[in-house]
Amino acid sequence: MKRTIKEVEELSGKKVLLRADFNVPLDENTNAILDTTRITEELPTIQYLVDAGAKLIVCSHLGRPNGVEEKYSLKPVADELAKHFEGKVTFCPVTIGTEAKKMVRKLKDGEILVLENVRFDEREEANDPKFAKELASLAEFYVNDAFGTAHRKHASTYGVAEILPSAIGFLIEKELSVIENAYTNPKRPFVAVLGGAKVKDKINVIKKLIDVADTVLIGGGMAFTFLAAQGKNIGDSLFAEENLNDAKNILKLAEKKGKKLLLPIDNVALENNKVYKVLEMHEGMEGLDIGPKTVKMFIKEIKKAGQIVWNGPVGKYEDKRFAKGTNKIAKAIAKSKAFSIIGGGDSISAINACGCAEQIDHLSTGGGASLKLMEGSSLPAVDIIGKVKKLKVANSKKKSSAKSKKAPAKTKCKKEKVEE
Ligand code: AMP
Repeated sequence: MKRTIKEVEELSGKKVLLRADFNVPLDENTNAILDTTRITEELPTIQYLVDAGAKLIVCSHLGRPNGVEEKYSLKPVADELAKHFEGKVTFCPVTIGTEAKKMVRKLKDGEILVLENVRFDEREEANDPKFAKELASLAEFYVNDAFGTAHRKHASTYGVAEILPSAIGFLIEKELSVIENAYTNPKRPFVAVLGGAKVKDKINVIKKLIDVADTVLIGGGMAFTFLAAQGKNIGDSLFAEENLNDAKNILKLAEKKGKKLLLPIDNVALENNKVYKVLEMHEGMEGLDIGPKTVKMFIKEIKKAGQIVWNGPVGKYEDKRFAKGTNKIAKAIAKSKAFSIIGGGDSISAINACGCAEQIDHLSTGGGASLKLMEGSSLPAVDIIGKVKKLKVANSKKKSSAKSKKAPAKTKCKKEKVEE
């Protein structure tokens, strides 16, 4: 496990640059924050650093701005943070430069300065060394807690860690340890549910899960490439010809390893704008949800599970006519006593839509990053942590575990729920 903020000594009085993921949804007209989850989830790390007496400089991206675009300003985020850390938060209207340096100099121990959107500068995503150097020059220590962008090599996620001594925050620590524990010490049977449209994105995850899980359930648009690999007629459903061989190899691999890989046995399909429940597809028919028999078969496996990992909707759930499968799977996972991990924006929306997010053990905050982690790939922004070692690091021998990921008691924030 990477060096965490708990293992860093002497943060008091130090200028600490925290890369958070404050990519929150904003109301187009009023610029109000529509969902503050990403902010509340970051509170334990911020509180810990504030309690440790750091002079905290917080940076993040927000949206996909094209240069400086007022609607993507981090000012509303700074205002939201100020509600939790009264009188301690200041907003800096620039990201780097003289004004930012001046405002950092004014910071007292335990105070927070929120920098303007790092993506207002195009050099951020290019991991430009000069931009990284400017950003790093504001601080003496770097903490990365932006799990959602940990698979990206950007200046604020990677470049600064090549310059400053660094550690990960509580959020990344929790994501890493939950997935690591789920893979190395799974509660069996370990059932994986995979869906979504793009097979290409999930090939490596499926291969990995065939290795570590007992049962793999595949639904969603990507299931049709597997059904085609079995020689089934998939009509006009989604099909990734370039991944047909991958699908064939995965089916063989599952057979060789004696793992259960289940594909849909019926579908909800659209033909001439009419919806049908079908066992077999034909030309002109597009499969857009798993059918009732498949739902039943998948739920039977979910009920037996000791651990469940779910990533990707099993149908085009945004359209009510094709949302049943995904909703039923979401409810079944929530109801199950198994340890449950859900990753990917669509699956999280589905679980939120059915009001059962509370019953899930771990909701992963980063779509792309969680897929990378689940396929066993390393995350560049995590790998680089600890490369520069200047500050004294405490000799912590404690091995991290999912249960020990909570912030220490003194880091409690106004909103209790954030510690989850
Ligand atoms: P992905 O980004 O690959 O995880 O795909 C997520 C998208 O897959 C969602 O927007 C779903 O609407 C879509 N999806 C799931 N199942 C199907 C399907 N059978 N046909 C078309 N789109 C689907």
